[in-house]
Amino acid sequence: MIDRRRFLHLSGAACLASMTGCGATRLASPYSAHVVVIGGGFAGATAAKTLRLLNPHLKVTLVEANAYYMTCPTSNWVLAGIKSIRDLRFDYRALSQNYGVNMIIDRVTAVDAAQKTVILQRGDCLHYDRLIMAPGIDFVWDDIAGYDAEIAQRVPHAWQAGPQTRLLWRQLQAMPDNGLIVLLAPPNPFRCPPGPYERASLMAYYCQRYKPKAKILILDQKRSFSKQSLFIQGWRRLYGYGADNGRIEWQSITDNPVVALMPKNTLETDFGDRFTADVLNIIPRQKAGKIAQLTGLADDSGWCPVTPLSAESTRIPGIHVIGDAATYAGIPKSAFAANSEAKACAMAVVALLNDELPQAPLWMNTCFSLLSPSQAISVSMVYKLNSAQQIEKVKGAGGVSVKTDTASLQHESEFARHWYQSITRDTFS
Ligand SMILES: Cc1cc2nc3c(=O)[nH]c(=O)nc-3n(C[C@H](O)[C@H](O)[C@H](O)COP(=O)(O)OP(=O)(O)OC[C@H]3O[C@@H](n4cnc5c(N)ncnc54)[C@H](O)[C@@H]3O)c2cc1C
Repeated sequence: MIDRRRFLHLSGAACLASMTGCGATRLASPYSAHVVVIGGGFAGATAAKTLRLLNPHLKVTLVEANAYYMTCPTSNWVLAGIKSIRDLRFDYRALSQNYGVNMIIDRVTAVDAAQKTVILQRGDCLHYDRLIMAPGIDFVWDDIAGYDAEIAQRVPHAWQAGPQTRLLWRQLQAMPDNGLIVLLAPPNPFRCPPGPYERASLMAYYCQRYKPKAKILILDQKRSFSKQSLFIQGWRRLYGYGADNGRIEWQSITDNPVVALMPKNTLETDFGDRFTADVLNIIPRQKAGKIAQLTGLADDSGWCPVTPLSAESTRIPGIHVIGDAATYAGIPKSAFAANSEAKACAMAVVALLNDELPQAPLWMNTCFSLLSPSQAISVSMVYKLNSAQQIEKVKGAGGVSVKTDTASLQHESEFARHWYQSITRDTFS
């Protein structure tokens, strides 16, 4: 007699009827499996593609709200004038044409974990056997009085790439020659820990050429930041950091946080200090994407706890959470990590559908940051599960780029360019 595991390998997906009326919940056939993935970013798109590569008989549906994806990686490069917004754009054709992913462009409005259904904005209902949730981030708007999603249309965060990136770029270009840019960096944990400092570097590069008297003030809601000593060395060399006329200044405001946005781009702190900017870039505190919150996957931290081995939610069985939305303690929230988590999760989901135990994965991350178009620094690490099933760093496997001579920094900037090409190819082609 054919068993379930063998059947999953042999059977086609044709018999699956995944779209049903919302009232008519379909019971999962014991001989078929449908995996629904929510969110087509680095995490979700990689998971959908990997699932199909691992088992071409699996039915995989990827639901993404937008027809195009705009990458945050290299979106800071737009602010140095070395990349256009158009270069950030990817579509999902290859996922459906080359890998047979069933692509749905629509927004998921609800998940019924008891019925194992996903409800779409246009009213359709999808049944799943396993669900992978990869919705990225949402923002916490309560911290700063006078700042919210609507005001962000005028005072950009640019922490989701696309129109926000364009808005910040336009404001930078329109700024007076002696303008002040104030960048409010978020508290941990947040998407792309070195991102605000790469942004400051590339805005400084732009100003050096086109706004010679402009200055960038980073107000940081942390006491320290990723690759701090490497950034500071680079800023000293390239932008006069620490000197009276230095182009970049960094201040930790942990003990005197910004509490309000006042008229005329003025930030006010708890002790009443005021900072008025020509260009104001507020990067708010972050949490898991809205649909993860609505589904009940997030805990009090705002992020979604998972069992690292399988990425399965510790709160709702049958739902896996990957990418920025998930808590993978120790692994930073990055596109590289999201891609790595997605592959490990896809392997675990295939194993679980085959009634097998997932194998312990290794996860990887590298974050490159440009100091200028031709100089970069990086941090990398490999992670594994320890005997307590917790994530830990593999000793000796990574670290920061240590060489700070010009040739090494130039090599790093080339690595950054090649990394972007390969991660976007790996995810979307
Ligand atoms: C300025 C900046 C620079 C960065 N640079 C780097 C870098 O150099 N290297 C690096 O590794 N990382 C970098 N990152 C981090 C990286 O962008 C994120 O870690 C990565 O995008 C996380 O991928 P994700 O798939 O979890 O989320 P996302 O990329 O945000 O994807 C989530 C997707 O889910 C969709 N979605 C959300 N809700 C729904 C719903 N209800 N229904 C349907 N679809 C939904 C969204 O439309 C989106 O497409 C950078 C980030 C920023 C802001």
